Amino acid sequence: MAEAFDILVIGSGVAGLSVALAAAPRRVAVLSRGAFGEDGSSAWAQGGIAAALGEGDSPALHAADTLAAGQRRNDPEAVARLTEAAPATVRWLDALGARFDRGAHGYALGREAAHAHARIVHARGDATGAEVMRALRAAARAAAHVTVLERRCAFELARAADGRVAGVRAHGPAGVELWRAGAVVLASGGIGAVYRYTTNPAYADGSGLALALAAGAEAADLEFVQFHPTALAPRAGERGQLPLLTEALRGAGAVLLDARGRRFMPALHPDAELAPRDVVARAVWAEGARGGAFLDATRAVGGAFPERFPTVFAACMARGLDPRRDAIPVVPAEHYHMGGVRVDAQARTSLPGLYAVGEVAASGVHGANRLASNSLLEGLAFGRALGERLAQSAPEIAPAVLPGTRDWRPLDAAADAELADLMWRHAALVREARGLQAALAELAALRARLPAAAHGGDRLLLAQRMLQAMLARRESVGAHYRSDAPRAACA
Ligand SMILES: Cc1cc2nc3c(=O)[nH]c(=O)nc-3n(C[C@H](O)[C@H](O)[C@H](O)COP(=O)(O)OP(=O)(O)OC[C@H]3O[C@@H](n4cnc5c(N)ncnc54)[C@H](O)[C@@H]3O)c2cc1C
Repeated sequence: MAEAFDILVIGSGVAGLSVALAAAPRRVAVLSRGAFGEDGSSAWAQGGIAAALGEGDSPALHAADTLAAGQRRNDPEAVARLTEAAPATVRWLDALGARFDRGAHGYALGREAAHAHARIVHARGDATGAEVMRALRAAARAAAHVTVLERRCAFELARAADGRVAGVRAHGPAGVELWRAGAVVLASGGIGAVYRYTTNPAYADGSGLALALAAGAEAADLEFVQFHPTALAPRAGERGQLPLLTEALRGAGAVLLDARGRRFMPALHPDAELAPRDVVARAVWAEGARGGAFLDATRAVGGAFPERFPTVFAACMARGLDPRRDAIPVVPAEHYHMGGVRVDAQARTSLPGLYAVGEVAASGVHGANRLASNSLLEGLAFGRALGERLAQSAPEIAPAVLPGTRDWRPLDAAADAELADLMWRHAALVREARGLQAALAELAALRARLPAAAHGGDRLLLAQRMLQAMLARRESVGAHYRSDAPRAACA
């Protein structure tokens, strides 16, 4: 019989490690695709964590900004829980050893687009995710109740005879493994690799969301996908993860230029470069078709670049671009999935025994568009709360599970590229019914050519469910823009 744990967490990003640490003294196993705590989006996060810690700010004001960014498609109760938990979440990280940047009066708080107050806690300028993950990793490695299971890909939920989720089948170094648990927590992050260009690392491929969908878990908001306006433009033939040029650069005064060196945002929105992300991203997409878009921080940041934005500076220099002197070519790229596995206020999915937290979950906090710096916060705050609840009342470990029903096989490289290309062409920043239907047809043809029921097959299912959700929402709202449908009244 396979080894059993009180709690099995799929994913070692901010969400997974927050659950694991807070669930002490329960026995927790944490599964991850690559190196523990280093392989998800969390380690790449730049800007920071939103929390109402400054003079004159409050959780209610933070909530108001979150609801406005989400076009009021958020769940106000979930937003209130998130924003109220934010200050204590930052202090928890501080106590765990995360070293945040400080000023004369406490945390140095940055300001980002659509935040009415300076409330972004950051570390080493633009290396917040790396610092937070360093602290979480160290704490988890030192915790006797946490078992680390690296380099494993979960591909199927295991069920007990009564139907509840009671473990996971994963492909590991020695082939297929079964890990049993009283509670399974999905903390598998985003879906970046479903698109040709993304800011996410390669393991954010939607496989966790896909396995939950394949098991019949309810999903929500699959059509709401956020594209970041300023990823470093790809070199010829490059695809997948592109370096991100943080929004904080525009917050610091960097401007967007067209191929002739003229600013184009002031004519499109009163907040110009600090307009909502979806507005800026579509404008950059349109300029891309006209010859290219460029982010110019030469005046606003100039010589201070290496010190203020070391991560971005290093990425640009590695491409032979000096952002102190040159405007940097940019493209939009998939950045964050607001939708995911539907969860209730206790992070329970529709499948008994399965919980979800972090980017893979649709908890209702983001609505149609995520407010910048709310996603690390969500994974940390809701992950910690879930861990504490499970510490009190983790379900019993089922004595046995039913046999598995399928094989594991990833999409091969050609099929993977075909999937990412068709989603980029038809289901990225500008969508319309005809294109979405064409994408569904291309997807069906791809599915017909591939052997059935492999792990990759579930990622095709995920794409299909996303396309169907995009077709079904016949309005433009937040990050979901339909060129053949009007903007919703409140959008
Ligand atoms: C470049 C970049 C910058 C960002 N900047 C910010 C920011 O400044 N502020 C902010 O709030 N947000 C930011 N975000 C978003 C934020 O980083 C993510 O939403 C958040 O880190 C997600 O955390 P997570 O724990 O849910 O998932 P992740 O950190 O992505 O971790 C997912 C984990 O799941 C594992 N996994 C996935 N599939 C499987 C599987 N099938 N089997 C086993 N394990 C699996 C992975 O290996 C990984 O360990 C940024 C994102 C990127 C990419």
